[in-house]
Amino acid sequence: KLVADRYLKRELLGEGTYGVVFKAIDTKTRKTVAIKKIRLGKYKEGVNFTALREIKLLKELKDPNIIELIDAFPHKGNLHLVFEFMESDLEAVIRDRNIVLSPADIKSFLQMTLQGLAYCHKKWVLHRDMKPNNLLIAADGQLKLADFGLARIFGSPDRKFTHQVFARWYRAPELLFGTKQYGPGVDVWAAGCIFAELLLRRPFLQGISDIDQLGKIFAAFGTPKPSQWPDMGYLPDFVEYQHVPAPSLRSLFPMASDDALDLLSKMFTYDPKARISSQLALDHRYFLSIPAPTKPELLPRPP
Ligand code: ADP
Repeated sequence: KLVADRYLKRELLGEGTYGVVFKAIDTKTRKTVAIKKIRLGKYKEGVNFTALREIKLLKELKDPNIIELIDAFPHKGNLHLVFEFMESDLEAVIRDRNIVLSPADIKSFLQMTLQGLAYCHKKWVLHRDMKPNNLLIAADGQLKLADFGLARIFGSPDRKFTHQVFARWYRAPELLFGTKQYGPGVDVWAAGCIFAELLLRRPFLQGISDIDQLGKIFAAFGTPKPSQWPDMGYLPDFVEYQHVPAPSLRSLFPMASDDALDLLSKMFTYDPKARISSQLALDHRYFLSIPAPTKPELLPRPP
């Protein structure tokens, strides 16, 4: 009855980008886990020896703000990835109308997000698909990044799936211009979008197509000048846009502190080479100025 001689399968938790996720009990540790079943058929050539070796690397990623990959094994033609079980996610927090997020709470959520990112970026692992429902929240209030490195192993999620549409809102301009040599800056841009979403309590840049997404970005920050982003013109899908001036960031985020706005503008720098890194973002004065970030165990969460 046990899966892989170890896991007691429980109810279905949901369906995601790569397959279904179900709850299970790990009989070895007696802990509750979430098992992600990845359909191998669909990613036939993807899940080869290299993929399994990369998954082994993901198992080595251990940080309080990264969801732990406990185990990985093939079973009945599916690849099974076993993760620690998480109570909730940041999307549920942001959408819950009964939850008030104080400036200290927002600072805490962003700090934990950036800590997880900085740990992985230091090891040259990118997330590539950051969005609020990938930021899971543990019973002790710790925020943990989920699905690290999976986009690279299994390919970009299939955009035909409707639930994937939302990932577009977090996509960096260089990805929308078709760059093939993206770096950790794509995750920092996405973290900036999540920071903005925590402040606004709604997604910041809601494009309805990839072109429209660029339009939303340009409307918010102005069209990038070649001096701001020298390599822009060489990107595969680059197209000239009609110039639009940038409104002040202050007018878009009237409630944010000056420090918050300064960090936000550095995370939304067009040129990925000039964009702030996750580590330097953590060192920004926003995290030193009052209010101090809320302790994880005191953060508000959905019932
Ligand atoms: P997506 O690809 O859309 O981000 P996932 O495949 O990560 O979705 O997850 C699908 C569903 O499974 C999620 O909506 C979430 O509710 C649940 N889930 C995923 N990982 C975990 C986990 N570690 N603990 C608890 N629930 C999880």
